[in-house]
Amino acid sequence: MRKLKIKNNEVAFYAMGGLGEIGKNMYCVQFQDEIIIIDCGVLFPEDELLGVDYVIQNYDYLVENKDKIKGIFITHGHEDHIGGLPFFLQKVNAPIYAGPFAMSLIRGKLEEKHLLKNAELHEINEFDTVHFKKLWVSFFRTTHSIPDTLGVAVHTPQGTIVQTGDFKFDLTPVGHLPGPNFQQMAKLGEEGVLLLTSDSTNAERPEFTKSERWVDIHIRRIFERIKGRIIFASFASNVYRLREASDAALKQGRKIAVFGRSMENAITAGQELGYLHIPEDALIDQNDINSYPPEKVMIMCTGSQGEPMAALSRIANGTHRQIAIQPGDTVVFSSNPIPGNTTSVNALINKLEEDGAEVIHGYVNNIHTSGHGGQVDEELMLRLMKPKFFAPVHGEYRMQKIHTKLAELTGVPMDHSFVLANGDVLALTKDTCRVADHIETASDVYIDGRDAGDTVGNPEIRERRMLSEEGVVTAIAVVDLKDYQIVAGPDIVSRGFVYMHESQELIKAANHEVFWAILNTFKNHQHVDRRAINRTIVSRLQKLLFEWTGRRPVIIPMVTILNADEEGQGSDLQRDVHHNARRTNSRPKHKAKNGAANNESDKSRPRPHRRSRPTAKKNAQPVATEK
Ligand SMILES: [Zn+2]
Repeated sequence: MRKLKIKNNEVAFYAMGGLGEIGKNMYCVQFQDEIIIIDCGVLFPEDELLGVDYVIQNYDYLVENKDKIKGIFITHGHEDHIGGLPFFLQKVNAPIYAGPFAMSLIRGKLEEKHLLKNAELHEINEFDTVHFKKLWVSFFRTTHSIPDTLGVAVHTPQGTIVQTGDFKFDLTPVGHLPGPNFQQMAKLGEEGVLLLTSDSTNAERPEFTKSERWVDIHIRRIFERIKGRIIFASFASNVYRLREASDAALKQGRKIAVFGRSMENAITAGQELGYLHIPEDALIDQNDINSYPPEKVMIMCTGSQGEPMAALSRIANGTHRQIAIQPGDTVVFSSNPIPGNTTSVNALINKLEEDGAEVIHGYVNNIHTSGHGGQVDEELMLRLMKPKFFAPVHGEYRMQKIHTKLAELTGVPMDHSFVLANGDVLALTKDTCRVADHIETASDVYIDGRDAGDTVGNPEIRERRMLSEEGVVTAIAVVDLKDYQIVAGPDIVSRGFVYMHESQELIKAANHEVFWAILNTFKNHQHVDRRAINRTIVSRLQKLLFEWTGRRPVIIPMVTILNADEEGQGSDLQRDVHHNARRTNSRPKHKAKNGAANNESDKSRPRPHRRSRPTAKKNAQPVATEK
């Protein structure tokens, strides 16, 4: 078991994710044999990670030390803070502590993965405290673009370590929802904060982030001008925004129809927790939209980030079952594209406008404000907490770096600020702070598909990149090991590498190369098997294609072996089949029927058939095909 290289009296702070990046937040405070985890999020990859849906942390260290983990404390319900829970819980079943809104999202998430039954969930509010033997945890309310956002304070024998979570100081949240609790933050500062770890997302913006109330005013003004249907798209989790839109629509006497599962879930949770007040009779069924005049309808939907399967994209593409864009529609995007989504959002806006809708979007129309504090918010947090030491988190390197300058301006000396990377271990006593160790976190885990088991590694990503850049060449052949003949093929198929019709010469040369590659295997090897044939095909074909084109496509040999002998002179896959047969008891019949498996071995090994191009044998029974 990996142990931290720190002194026994030192308390450690480290991150499994969230440093030098925006996403997969996971911060830890450890004192001796107690570990407190704060958040467990995913990262949404950029396009270069082909086909990967999420990236999660490499938290091997935590799995090895799982007996020390006391709990996972959740600051709020965004995916980059809770999205990793279903994966982590399968390795470590630690208790989860979260505020009401985050907890309702976590419940839904765990239920979907059948993990809810065994999960230990504790709903907390800002005034709760949670005590363990050596550490205890308290909270403070902040504001962000999702309700019930909490900062976390971990009280240790050396002092208090504060993790702000994502925050901005919204002094006037909409609908009289609670604002930030300055008193609690100031109290923590007054009692003494050893280390502050604070959100750096907007450290480059020299501003005090605008309140939701400002957006509320503009949404009302915009809605007053709209005469036809309103299609309102935003992040489902931004319940403040849903509140602003629904209040404005209700004031105009509009009925509200909701599209998209996450939007439906958010509205249900928002209504239940009292953050939304949409009367039952104002919510209409999706199929009833056309029974109301356009000026009396608002559609709330997901897809403001241009996600291809979300409601808004399907509406724009005309593939939605219930709604199509009609003249007079106004689509309101109350969000900004997150980095990486700009192109798809722009394409969506173009499509909606082509369809005849008017589109209102972005900062230009004052219908969006960030959920993260700018420089002034960050400085205010530093002033309230008055930390002895400071570590900027939740941001890329340059944001962390600027954040340390803001800390210096508010009285934290530069040598008391630490720009950490994931895995760096900060060791603290009440007077000292140093980077003492580094935990391996470098190899991220890629999740492909929605199940926790569907992880892919770096080699797969490399392969996908090669496929996307260089294409694929398949060499297909049927080989008979009884008399060492190629009985069918070889055939060369190329996809995304060269256009076959225009590359007849190259395909012919490749065909020839594979033919001789197989025959050479017969000649040169004591034991001919599928692997040897494949290896030779790949290496010779690779060389030839590179010489002709300067490119390296992925090469897939698909060789079917006939009459591989029992003693393994033939295919090793053959042995695998036998092995499976013994294990599962389901194969012997198939094996007996299969002529190849019973074939007497032919030790005399005739010379390979060389010159003539053989034809496929009739009734030949393939044993195994490698793909
Ligand atoms: Zn957030």
